[in-house]
Amino acid sequence: MSYIPYSCQQVTEDDIAAVNDVLRSEYLTQGPVVPVFEEAFARRHGVSHAVAVSSATAGLHMACLALGVGAGSRVWTSPNSFLASANCALYCGAAVDFVDIDPRTRNLSVSALTAKLTLAAQRGTLPDLLIPVDFGGLPCDLLEIRELADRYGFRVLQDASHATGATYQGRPVGSAHAHATVFSFHAVKVLTTAEGGMVTTQDPAVAKQLRLLRSHGMTREAGDLQNPVEGPWVYEQQTLGFNYRLTDIQAALGNSQLRRLDAMHQARIALADRYDELLADLPLLLPARLPDRVSSWHLFPVEIDETRTSCTRAAVFQDLRAAQIGVNVHYIPIHTQPFYAAMGFRAGDFPAAERYYARAISLPLFPAMTQAQQHRVVDVLRDALGAQDRPSQLSC
Ligand SMILES: *Cc1c(COP(=O)(O)O)cnc(C)c1O
Repeated sequence: MSYIPYSCQQVTEDDIAAVNDVLRSEYLTQGPVVPVFEEAFARRHGVSHAVAVSSATAGLHMACLALGVGAGSRVWTSPNSFLASANCALYCGAAVDFVDIDPRTRNLSVSALTAKLTLAAQRGTLPDLLIPVDFGGLPCDLLEIRELADRYGFRVLQDASHATGATYQGRPVGSAHAHATVFSFHAVKVLTTAEGGMVTTQDPAVAKQLRLLRSHGMTREAGDLQNPVEGPWVYEQQTLGFNYRLTDIQAALGNSQLRRLDAMHQARIALADRYDELLADLPLLLPARLPDRVSSWHLFPVEIDETRTSCTRAAVFQDLRAAQIGVNVHYIPIHTQPFYAAMGFRAGDFPAAERYYARAISLPLFPAMTQAQQHRVVDVLRDALGAQDRPSQLSC
């Protein structure tokens, strides 16, 4: 029985040809393809600025800095995310805290945020930046979050690493409400450059700062130079930056993939719709669907509903893996990691994220997944969940 991965990149002959073209060209990096990719991404997303970066982690780090985070700042994010959503604030010397999730959307809860802000306002400990995450590709509650940001004076950095292609109130994620939005093009994500990412913003000053930080804090733009211009060779370092550049090889792959973003998204939507149908009668909680937003369907995370089955997540997970189905778990709540526990966070601090984690399994979902593969996943899952009716089975 062949292995079904939880995620699988789609690389076509067109993608390979686009990469080969760059390999045969003069510039492997800092050439013309990166700006082409940035412009195409910005156009596709209805946003004025898109800045390509070497990873979403790099993008989050730079965007924190560009949005004014520094030593002593306070940054809040969701505990139900990948480590990078919180680590980026620590890179800047900020303090991190978390806001618990809404059990239905599994995204940062607006009611938990409101309560935490009320308390923080009384104590004088309001955050400087909030990093909401579009978990699994489902856009977070951007409008409500932005209203709170304007009321309490913090900025919003949307971690849309999962959400390339998703829409919120009819508009592409990355075009509105957040001060900046970060996308990941890691190979498991919905669009890939192997490693890579993009930061979008409508704010020209933020975009300019991102471009500076991406390349050593260095500029050659005549209008930006502070010292007298001695000649055409002049470059100036104006802030402490990094090498967070995407290569032209990667940008060519990304640009070629971007042309298929809608087709790949449609394939994911069809698979998600079919999972909903095929799994409807099982003791599972399926991903939320909200009328005002469309998920990218990066993930299809289900929860084992222990009120309707005695099967444990561990047993079901093992049965699926034993049947060559590459399930995964997203995410171990960040605050329970030893590194974060050492800062004083405790199990129990964010109970909704912990409860979600205890029951979660991400099922395979990728554009080239066949109906036969999907039926196999569902059949194995059905058997695993039905196993408590067969006392001889060890799995429950
Ligand atoms: C993948 C991911 C990142 C990091 O992306 P990289 O491109 O691998 O650096 C950050 N946040 C979330 C939510 C992710 O899933």
